Amino acid sequence: MNSEKVKKIALVAHDHKKEDLIDWSIENKGLLTEHKLFATGTTGRLLEKRLGLPVNKFLSGPLGGDQQIGASIATGEIDMLIFFWDPLEPQPHDPDVKALLRLAAVWNIPVACNEATADYIFTSPLLNKEYDRKVESYSSHTTRKIK
Ligand code: PGA
Repeated sequence: MNSEKVKKIALVAHDHKKEDLIDWSIENKGLLTEHKLFATGTTGRLLEKRLGLPVNKFLSGPLGGDQQIGASIATGEIDMLIFFWDPLEPQPHDPDVKALLRLAAVWNIPVACNEATADYIFTSPLLNKEYDRKVESYSSHTTRKIK
């Protein structure tokens, strides 16, 4: 697993949370500049425009972007998820949201689902250090016997 100082950070926000994520990102631009940024399509487009930093953009979330980020977490290409999801609005891609959060837990990456948690992560001394996060081998799963 990646233990580099430069983190690959995925940023995602549901529509009613996009302004909050943009404001938070502008406040934290100095730190974000030091890392590689990824985002779902619309969030990434807005971030590039308003933040002025390059963002690697996946598809829009409801069109598969959440699943692309989940897959990238599983293959070690994303180290951290800042995901301002909307607890008050039903989402058409709710199963994808759940799957993304599940994979973040499986691979033990730091996840912020709101601004306070993002603040805690971004004031952590671990942010700009090498960090070996523990990941289970899951060997009992991959070698399990199927009749
Ligand atoms: P979007 O996707 O950035 O393309 O709007 C966000 C989401 O997953 O809802």
